[in-house]
Amino acid sequence: MGTLGRKIAGANVEELIKLLNKAYSDEWLAYYQYWIGSKIVKGPDKEAVIAELTLHATEELNHATLLTTRIIQLGGTPVIKPQDWYKLTNCGYEAPEDPFVVKVLEQNIRGEQCAIKTYNSLMKKIKDTDPVTYNILLTILTQEVEHEEDLQALLEDVNVIMNQK
Ligand code: FE
Ligand code: FE
Ligand code: MG
Repeated sequence: MGTLGRKIAGANVEELIKLLNKAYSDEWLAYYQYWIGSKIVKGPDKEAVIAELTLHATEELNHATLLTTRIIQLGGTPVIKPQDWYKLTNCGYEAPEDPFVVKVLEQNIRGEQCAIKTYNSLMKKIKDTDPVTYNILLTILTQEVEHEEDLQALLEDVNVIMNQK
């Protein structure tokens, strides 16, 4: 990777790589939580929920791609063992053991809220030292905010449908 590119990322590149690997682990777990949720979800408004969960899964995977690209640019190694995702994650993984649509949406909303907090605090940490990473994190955060809103709107629709019955 470029030596000057690495230099402008600030003095504490190793610490930054560690934090990016934590976020990277979150993204893979978020991807799988959405993906498996889209396969097993049951209940009212299922088709709309499946479409949104499937789309979000692909978007989480894209976040992992953005992070891994930056980790490599900074001279780091992205997490190479899936079992390390569990050790490094900020937001964890909520298995959709109850496939009822309300439960699945609530789990994913909690995940998005954790992602929003995580990216927001990471951005504050690096805002004066690494504009390139900051810009990548802003792209991701913007989409996490959209995800939270999409899921809350879907949950409202599901509740409306259930109250009609
Ligand atoms: Fe994400
Ligand atoms: Fe998200
Ligand atoms: Mg969406």
